[in-house]
Amino acid sequence: MARKPFIAGNWKMNMTAESGKALIAELKPLVKEAKCNIALCVPAILIPAMVKAAKGSKIKIGAQNVHWAASGAYTGEISCEQLKEYGVKYAIIGHSERRQYFGETDEGVNKRTLAALENDITPIVCVGETLSERENGETENVLSRQLENGLKSVEDITKVVIAYEPVWAIGTGKTATDEQAQETIKFIRKKLGKLFGVKNANRVVIQYGGSMNAKNCKGLMAQPDIDGGLIGGASLKTDFAIIVNYNK
Ligand code: PEP
Repeated sequence: MARKPFIAGNWKMNMTAESGKALIAELKPLVKEAKCNIALCVPAILIPAMVKAAKGSKIKIGAQNVHWAASGAYTGEISCEQLKEYGVKYAIIGHSERRQYFGETDEGVNKRTLAALENDITPIVCVGETLSERENGETENVLSRQLENGLKSVEDITKVVIAYEPVWAIGTGKTATDEQAQETIKFIRKKLGKLFGVKNANRVVIQYGGSMNAKNCKGLMAQPDIDGGLIGGASLKTDFAIIVNYNK
């Protein structure tokens, strides 16, 4: 079965209800003919308003994190049940900013991923190496560790989306070359094959993320193992629609 391309935006801690609604209103007609799955992962407080704004369009609203517990004393966190109440279908998990600034570990990524899957929320599990790790030739070891630990006990890997996001390319304007991204994502697929079987690995949607924009999206999306993009900066403007329509 062919993998359906998937372009997701990550608004991070940007936008307000007003500016978000305005952007989604602009995007709606522009993404009407898109052939890929589309999501915008927005700040939690904006989820209800953005779900309403995106209604009747191809844009699904996602979260930027999710907690593993059903409820309880976890100040500042959000449960799957709370997300599901608003029809949230996707959640980014283990973004490098969560790992870097908020102490997110592979173990936490694993617990969040399993909880999302149990609740029919598609986890977009982020993996990626830092610049020094790449320069020291540690990329494959780092990715292997993140995948092995982050995806432990996952029963159906085809229900997980992986986002390969080299940390040195996020928000820096420095994109991985088409070849670098393809080569690393091919490695990720091979690793998934070892962990979950080649047949299953060949069905997993793997996105590239890291300064993907309206100009470089075509080249990246043309790579055989790249099935989509996780888009930060360019998802805050109508350029997002150009990326969604990369094949036009
Ligand atoms: C991201 O937030 O996941 C990301 C890839 O950001 P940017 O596109 O701005 O590099």
